[in-house]
Amino acid sequence: MKFGASLKTPCYVIDESGLVLNLVKLRELENRTGCRVLLAQKAFSAFAMYPLIAEYISGTTASGLFEARLAYEEFPKEVKTAKEIHVYSPAYTHDDIRELGRICDVVVFNTLEQWEIHKDSLPSNVSAGLRVNPEKSTQEHAIYDPCSPFSRLGTTIANLQGKDSSRLKGIDGLHFHTLCEQDSDALESTLEAFLDKFGGFLSGMKWVNLGGGHHITREGYDFERLVRCVERVKKYVPLVYIEPGEAVALNSGWLAASVLDIVHNGMDIAILDASAACHMPDVLEMPYRPQIVDAFPAGEKPFTFRLAGNTCLAGDVIGDYSFENRLKVGDKIFFCDMAIYSMVKNNTFNGTPLPSIAVLRCNGDLEVIKEFGYEDFKNRLS
Ligand SMILES: *Cc1c(COP(=O)(O)O)cnc(C)c1O
Repeated sequence: MKFGASLKTPCYVIDESGLVLNLVKLRELENRTGCRVLLAQKAFSAFAMYPLIAEYISGTTASGLFEARLAYEEFPKEVKTAKEIHVYSPAYTHDDIRELGRICDVVVFNTLEQWEIHKDSLPSNVSAGLRVNPEKSTQEHAIYDPCSPFSRLGTTIANLQGKDSSRLKGIDGLHFHTLCEQDSDALESTLEAFLDKFGGFLSGMKWVNLGGGHHITREGYDFERLVRCVERVKKYVPLVYIEPGEAVALNSGWLAASVLDIVHNGMDIAILDASAACHMPDVLEMPYRPQIVDAFPAGEKPFTFRLAGNTCLAGDVIGDYSFENRLKVGDKIFFCDMAIYSMVKNNTFNGTPLPSIAVLRCNGDLEVIKEFGYEDFKNRLS
């Protein structure tokens, strides 16, 4: 990769032009349907890019107070249009709500009980919503499936039916989030279940939020079906929100690493200065195999290596890949699609240094915008 030679590793490199490509698509969704697209910050909180993101979409959503504060401080409030800050958390403390009420436009509650605990503390200009669980599983990954059995995420119809309907008074909208990296056919069948169960509660409400997990910016995603889904919801409520995380920064960054040593034990193993456990935890959690620039499936090219991290964890292995040339100490490896769920999830297990953060600008300039050191490791311990 042409920018790689002088780069100090490990380093996340955000690809500004990749981000713009995604944002243009999301802007098109807003323009076509009138819906509002919110960045789910839990996937991508690289706030240096918030001014750029604000050029294209309507705001952000947060998983709790700290993400909401980050949006309040860093996401420009007025770029072309006013921007919104939403928050959803399974439960809030009184202290959370006091501050969230000050900085958020929309607060989504997980249960009627949470709503009732907090409704008197919420300023009247803040819109309140309820997350519901349509109980329609459309995916295989149980840990990423909010509709899996015994899920705590969202109010089920059993918990609404038969309740005094005045308990919903003051709730302006319903929210559901059930997808993960899925196409709009999964949204369509979820919507069917949602409207079937909860459609009756929507009369008089102002908005519906379709959550995240929509792989809108992936090649081949059925965008027209998404547009039809949004139009369908607009028959029930005037305003539709959608809050993708992944889709905003999909394929918009790399994790650059260097080979530190090559170990031989039945095969060639390259030890890197980047770690699956510390720097790309979804590789182990999901699990999945990241794409690497100029690397191929094991055995396909002459030189196959196992790529592994520089930690004590035996399983800190990214995978086996083959290369045209034999890897040697100092070579650089570029893991693809590493803008999302990477910087926000990394850790310093083993005292492993955090990767710095750089941006590859649209004009080809590479700018290192943040470097971390020993103090970042020490400051979160005592
Ligand atoms: C995770 C999450 C999102 C974003 O999901 P992506 O898969 O990154 O699009 C949006 N809303 C809620 C409530 C979530 O939990």
